[in-house]
Amino acid sequence: MTPYERSRILLRFADLVEKHNDEIAALETWNNGKIYEQAAKIELPMFVRLFHYYAGWADKIHGLTVPADGPYHVQTLHEPIGVAGQIIPWNFPLLMFAWKVGPALACGNTIVLKTAEQTPLTALYVAKLFHEAGLPPGVLNIVSGYGPTAGAALANHMDVDKLAFTGSTKTGKIVLELAARSNLKPVTLELGGKSPFIVCEDADIDTAVEQAHFALFFNQGQCCCAGSRTYVHEHVYDEFLEKAKARAMRRIVGDPFKKDVEQGPQIDSEQFEKVLRYIKSGIESNATLECGGGRLGSKGFYIEPTVFSNVQDDMLIAKDEIFGPVQSILKFKDLDEVIRRANTTSYGLAAGVFTKNMDTANTLSRALRAGTVWVNCFDVFDAAIPFGGYKMSGIGREKGIYSLHNYLQVKAVVTPLNDPAWL
Ligand code: NAD
Repeated sequence: MTPYERSRILLRFADLVEKHNDEIAALETWNNGKIYEQAAKIELPMFVRLFHYYAGWADKIHGLTVPADGPYHVQTLHEPIGVAGQIIPWNFPLLMFAWKVGPALACGNTIVLKTAEQTPLTALYVAKLFHEAGLPPGVLNIVSGYGPTAGAALANHMDVDKLAFTGSTKTGKIVLELAARSNLKPVTLELGGKSPFIVCEDADIDTAVEQAHFALFFNQGQCCCAGSRTYVHEHVYDEFLEKAKARAMRRIVGDPFKKDVEQGPQIDSEQFEKVLRYIKSGIESNATLECGGGRLGSKGFYIEPTVFSNVQDDMLIAKDEIFGPVQSILKFKDLDEVIRRANTTSYGLAAGVFTKNMDTANTLSRALRAGTVWVNCFDVFDAAIPFGGYKMSGIGREKGIYSLHNYLQVKAVVTPLNDPAWL
């Protein structure tokens, strides 16, 4: 198939998804429990935009003519890598599908994608739309299966040429090992995080409070890049804390299909119990529970928006990825100290910086060891902006031009030039 034909299919697919926006968003809410408005008005439009973006790349992927020291014509061919194995998590079933499928198809690969066991619905639905858009049978294959069986089989398979994984750091290590032990397939990993959110003395406090709340509580706290360590300068700490607590107490939790609801249930009983265990550990380690801390109601996996203050770096709630609606607020005195503390983690996915001082913003954004630094904003995602982690938050980058490199082989073709007149 020519690159232009690939591009047309991606565009037709995106248009079909756009046409079915509301029913796919409803299916995503059933799939995951996320707020319907969020699925319909934020995630589906981002999904469509991502496929438009990669449709634009499909016919602009090409190699180079390379000058050599001898009488040779040298060119590079950018070829598809082959069969891409892709394993995605449950927190953003559609967006993770888009981040992986968009670039892989734009580059001309075939795909076997495994959805998370909790959330098989929307990938199957949109795969049907791909068929309608003209994608030939066998190019995109969706497997609904469990991790240690279906997922491991993909990572271990000799005929899978590339593996892309998003999920926990623990499972990331397992798939990397399986890939190494089988055919040494290249692996990209997008793993966990414990992202610092730094509020400097000169920050606009109301904006910082709202953004810190969003950074942590968005998607029920189930975001790999959640701003889960809120560092606040000691001079503005009391004001920030009072406002952050008031904001969390105003958060509306309930049926994700209801208008104005901001927070739905956690994904399943396992995650629900895990988050409650972390809250218990926060209380036992003497962090101050400012609000929330328990189950909401007696049915479903709803958790009260929870805020801890007086959190210390060595507490479990400040070290582990909780993946729930639990905000931890920590106090700091100066920039050197907060840089050191923010970087004292095995993760390095993202960071937030709130300040009005350009020098402070520049210092922090260069000093923080994280794949994304949002300055005076958070969770700004765009098809063109790369995303990925330092340290144990992952290997490689997704989205933007960077993702194309994950799905291409570079071949150098060298031919002698036998007529010296035309060297
Ligand atoms: P997980 O890593 O176990 O699951 C992610 C994906 O990997 C799923 O598709 C799963 O089926 C698959 N998988 C699991 N075991 C596998 C194996 N042995 N071989 C191949 N594939 C395997 O994550 P989880 O158990 O669903 O969630 C646990 C924690 O992971 C969460 O609490 C959270 O901290 C983190 N998490 C991070 C992200 C992220 O976006 N970075 C997403 C989901 C969960």
